[in-house]
Amino acid sequence: MVMAHDVHIIGGGLAGSEAAWQLARRGLRVRLSEMRGAGEEHGGGLTPAHHTDGLAELVCSNSFRSDDDEKNAVGLLHHEMRRLGSLVMQAGETARVPAGSAMAVDRDAFSHAVTRALEEHPNVTVVRERVDVLPDAGLTIIATGPLTAAALANSIGRATGAESLAFFDAIAPIVHRDSIDMSIAWLQSRWNKSAGGADADGPGDYINCPMNQEQYLAFHRGLIEGEKTTFREWEANTPYFEGCMPVEVMAERGEDTLRYGPMKPVGLDNPHDPTPEFPQGRWPYAVVQLRQDNKLGTLWNMVGFQTKLKHGEQVRLFRTIPGLENAEFARLGGLHRNTFLNSPRLLDRQLRLKAAPHIRFAGQITGCEGYVESAAIGLLAGMMAAAETGGQDWSPPPRTSAMGALLAHITGDAEAADYQPMNVNFGLFPPLPEVKKKARKEAYTGRAKAEFGTWLAEREAVPA
Ligand SMILES: Cc1cc2nc3c(=O)[nH]c(=O)nc-3n(C[C@H](O)[C@H](O)[C@H](O)COP(=O)(O)OP(=O)(O)OC[C@H]3O[C@@H](n4cnc5c(N)ncnc54)[C@H](O)[C@@H]3O)c2cc1C
Repeated sequence: MVMAHDVHIIGGGLAGSEAAWQLARRGLRVRLSEMRGAGEEHGGGLTPAHHTDGLAELVCSNSFRSDDDEKNAVGLLHHEMRRLGSLVMQAGETARVPAGSAMAVDRDAFSHAVTRALEEHPNVTVVRERVDVLPDAGLTIIATGPLTAAALANSIGRATGAESLAFFDAIAPIVHRDSIDMSIAWLQSRWNKSAGGADADGPGDYINCPMNQEQYLAFHRGLIEGEKTTFREWEANTPYFEGCMPVEVMAERGEDTLRYGPMKPVGLDNPHDPTPEFPQGRWPYAVVQLRQDNKLGTLWNMVGFQTKLKHGEQVRLFRTIPGLENAEFARLGGLHRNTFLNSPRLLDRQLRLKAAPHIRFAGQITGCEGYVESAAIGLLAGMMAAAETGGQDWSPPPRTSAMGALLAHITGDAEAADYQPMNVNFGLFPPLPEVKKKARKEAYTGRAKAEFGTWLAEREAVPA
């Protein structure tokens, strides 16, 4: 018999499992609906990437990435999650396998530990069923991940407006602003027009990296010849828009296609290349443009550069772009099937759907990316729902912490117009320009730990 519940969680992956744990340990009753392991009569089935009916199955690599909490943003996220009694981190520790400074796990042992902890918890009922429509009422957390089953995705699409639900992330590489060489690149909007069409008063909205003909032709060849990853069968069958076309596919259409597309140089005067005739600077042969990606201005994305080039190949080729010779990438490009919401537009600061606030979203469907990030957002969603049920105020973790920075990005600080999934990285943290670059990572983690500690000390004590 299924007991009455306080919160209904749909999706027993990384985020849903962590959210369930956080609620259960605070004494709230949870119904956790997971379609894997359900009989046919309950719409059971696997996703195209899952192979088992275990909760929190890792669908690809077995790594939680770096465990270094001094110099790495994801390591810092591990640290904060541990301090909040994360089930994913506890089960990860139980299932840990040697991986140097990274945290890797035995995937079966990990999923088994999560499943057992939740199935044995008196406050959790794991129900093997597929849910096809958003519930009309009752506190709900949707954590159905990047491969949300089709009927529920349609229901979410109806509630949010179909254009707010993406099925692909066509990701262009994102570069740390302070690694761009501005003695070669420059800031300017095309024809000095700002995004709204008015004449720009300021220096312009785009960072422009100029190429001469020789550089462009070599780059064009590099795009065509570079090693690519291939679509999985189920990805190839998911339709995607023309706007998601990989840059190398565009390059294959002709030598000049890019120069008439994302690499168009017209209206861009290179101030590093003035002549008596063009004292403001000449137009280059081709240009790579970067647009600001977060409100802090620390991250910039390469406009139109979504790509299926292998990661190593991207780093090598994109560092041949003038101005990006020493570029540090906050994330590289990619094109994957991935169901996610335009969260900055749709969700409030507590991950609630503004149009239906009894529904919260958690995990990768909110537009975070990665196992650990998904679990972290699940953890926060669980804490928020627990506070809401108990009528308590909930204050988010400080913006300077890994959890606070990721949450702020998803719930409003990212640019909604071209929102794309994001890993945790130091570019999401409020900058510390006064600290020398070499010491900055430790400065970020030091500040985060201190402020996170203060926030934690002000919170209720929860049994382990
Ligand atoms: C192919 C692929 C490979 C990836 N590889 C990596 C990687 O190597 N490293 C990494 O860090 N991240 C990776 N990711 C990204 C991401 O971090 C993981 O997908 C992560 O599992 C997301 O956590 P989640 O809890 O949001 O979703 P999931 O872990 O996918 O959990 C969602 C759960 O919801 C269930 N579900 C879906 N629809 C319904 C429904 N209607 N009713 C009931 N249950 C439902 C699913 O069965 C699933 O158990 C990968 C993603 C994909 C798609």
